[in-house]
Amino acid sequence: MLIEHSTAAALTIDLGAIVENWRFLGARAGSSPPPTAACAAVVKADAYGLGLAEVAPALYQAGCREFFVALVHEGVQLRALIPPDATVYVLHGPQPGAEIECAQHTLVPVLNSPDQLQRWSNLANTRGERLPAVLQVDTGMRRLGFEARDFEALHVEAFASASLSGVEPILLMSHLVSAEDPADPINRIQLEQFQIARKRWPGLRCSLANSSGIFLGPAWHFDLLRPGAALYGVAPVPNQPNPMRPVIRLQAPIIQTRTIAPGDRVGYNHTWRASRPTRVATLSVGYADGYLRSLSNRAIVRFMGQTAPLIGRVSMDTITVDVTELPEHQLTPGAQVDLIDSAHDINQVATEAGTNAYEILTSLGPRYRRQYLAA
Ligand SMILES: *Cc1c(COP(=O)(O)O)cnc(C)c1O
Repeated sequence: MLIEHSTAAALTIDLGAIVENWRFLGARAGSSPPPTAACAAVVKADAYGLGLAEVAPALYQAGCREFFVALVHEGVQLRALIPPDATVYVLHGPQPGAEIECAQHTLVPVLNSPDQLQRWSNLANTRGERLPAVLQVDTGMRRLGFEARDFEALHVEAFASASLSGVEPILLMSHLVSAEDPADPINRIQLEQFQIARKRWPGLRCSLANSSGIFLGPAWHFDLLRPGAALYGVAPVPNQPNPMRPVIRLQAPIIQTRTIAPGDRVGYNHTWRASRPTRVATLSVGYADGYLRSLSNRAIVRFMGQTAPLIGRVSMDTITVDVTELPEHQLTPGAQVDLIDSAHDINQVATEAGTNAYEILTSLGPRYRRQYLAA
């Protein structure tokens, strides 16, 4: 294995760190009197690019029993990976025609509109069963969920009536717009809107907080936390020390080194120019691996505890690094250079790339040699 892939960049994913992050977030739940909130795991988009097949069973082993995916087919995939006592919620709900698949795999849809509710109800009535569902109410995102007006038209009693009797709401949820910015007044407005919706459904479990929402305070916790990003090491509160354990390490091997003269230029379009004799190392990673092109002339890499700047454009399969200050005899072909590690993590790389850490994670490509550290 190792020899076969030795020229590929390596992505190491620490399942133990993911599990610890999940426990840490769960432990923050409901500092107010019991019952405290449960902690779900959001594992949509292949567990944010880190591998659903490895991440979900590790979290299940650790005690996680509620999982969120975005799509029905992600739910079907997840069902095959974890035992049936776990609940799998589908954030988008079923598209027309996908209801049967949803029910067959015992997925619990998040119903976002009167139309989705009616279709789920029709299926329940056809099958003569009661089918569980999540109701999502829109409190400001204007993206998914019942609009306040439609939600007000729904009544608890309606679910006892003939038309909706097959649907069993088991959770009420909404999603925060700017939870990573505690100073944004929208957080409290959404909380108030959610509380109004909640009053209509006494006794129904409620869920509002994503990763950052957990850090807004216990008022946002309700009965179920829904973290995704923070499980994978994303800082939940920007500009504050990151309490989450780093999860990934990304390394790329040196292919070749050379020394260039002052005035020489490097890479596509010659965007970098040497002002001194410069030693350049070419590494085997590029934007085809999801190492974003916007890191051109902006990222740093690390080698044996020292940093080196990325110079020139990120190419499809290679990047170039100024290694003049690094110990030359160590810089041999095959030597592994750190692109992302605990000292220079996804949050810093996101800043260098001008994006957020979510995009850094979900861009991680299939070409990496992936290694998992067991939980
Ligand atoms: C993606 C998502 C989450 C998780 O959000 P993070 O910011 O990654 O913790 C929670 N709820 C909904 C509705 C989502 O779409």
